[in-house]
Amino acid sequence: MTTSSPETDLGRTRRARRIGRALTEAHPDAHCELDHSNALELAVATILSAQCTDKKVNEVTPKLFVRYPSAADYAGADRTELEELIRPTGFYRNKTDSLIKLGQALVERYDGQVPGKLADLVTLPGIGRKTANVILGNAFDVPGITVDTHFQRLVQRWGLTTQTDPVKIEHEIGALFPKREWTMLSHRIIFHGRRVCHARKPACGACTLARLCPSYGTGPTEAAASAKLLKGPRARDLAVAAGVDPALVPQQAVVAEAP
Ligand code: SF4
Repeated sequence: MTTSSPETDLGRTRRARRIGRALTEAHPDAHCELDHSNALELAVATILSAQCTDKKVNEVTPKLFVRYPSAADYAGADRTELEELIRPTGFYRNKTDSLIKLGQALVERYDGQVPGKLADLVTLPGIGRKTANVILGNAFDVPGITVDTHFQRLVQRWGLTTQTDPVKIEHEIGALFPKREWTMLSHRIIFHGRRVCHARKPACGACTLARLCPSYGTGPTEAAASAKLLKGPRARDLAVAAGVDPALVPQQAVVAEAP
C-alpha cells in the first residue's frame, strides 16, 4: 500500500475488496466455530461464549443440547442442574440466568421459536447486536456483520475504519462489501484474527495481506519469527500462501487452539 497521498474513498473500497479476496483464499475453512444445528442452539452457544473459548463451549454444548432441546426446557430448567452443566464456560451463574430468561422470553413472546429479525432478537435476554448478527447470518441466512474484538482490531489495523463504536464499524465496513458477503467476511476476518493477526504479536512476515495492510510491521516481519506465530491446523498452508517455508512453523502451532 502506498502512503504518499491520502487514500480516496474509491481506493479504500478497492483495497477492502482485495483484502476480502485475499481472506477468501487464505481461509477456505472459515465458518462459525460454535457447533449448533438450529437457531436456539446457536443462541445458547453464543451466550456461553462470552469470556470463553469456542472450543470450551463446544465441549459443553452436546450434553446441554440433548438435555434442553427446546426454549421451554430452558424456561423451566432447574437452576442448579443447568449451572453445573455450563460451569466450565465460566460466569456460569450469570449465564444460567440469561439462558432461563431467554427460554422464558421465547416461550412468552415468540411461541418458543427464535425470531429471525434483528429488531426482535436484540430484545431477548442475553442477546446483544453482535449475537443477533451471528444468529441471523448462521441460522437464518440473513447477511450479518459480527463485530467482535478480532473484527474490530483487524479492520482498524487495515485502516478501513477509524470508528471505535461497534455499530458504527458494522455500518462502515458493511458499506465496503456486497451484503451477500457479510456473514462469510465476518468469519474470515475472525479466522485471520485468531490465526495470523493476533492482538499482541501479529504474524506480519507470514501474512498474505502484508501488501494491503498499512499496519504491516506491527508484529515481526522476519519469516522465522512470524511463522512461529501462526496458529491452527492450517498454519503451514498459511505460511506457504505467504511465501514462507512451512518447515518454520512448529508442530505446536499447528495443534494450538486458536484463541
Ligand atoms: S500485515 Fe500484520 S497487521 Fe497487517 S493484517 Fe497481516 S498480520 Fe495483521
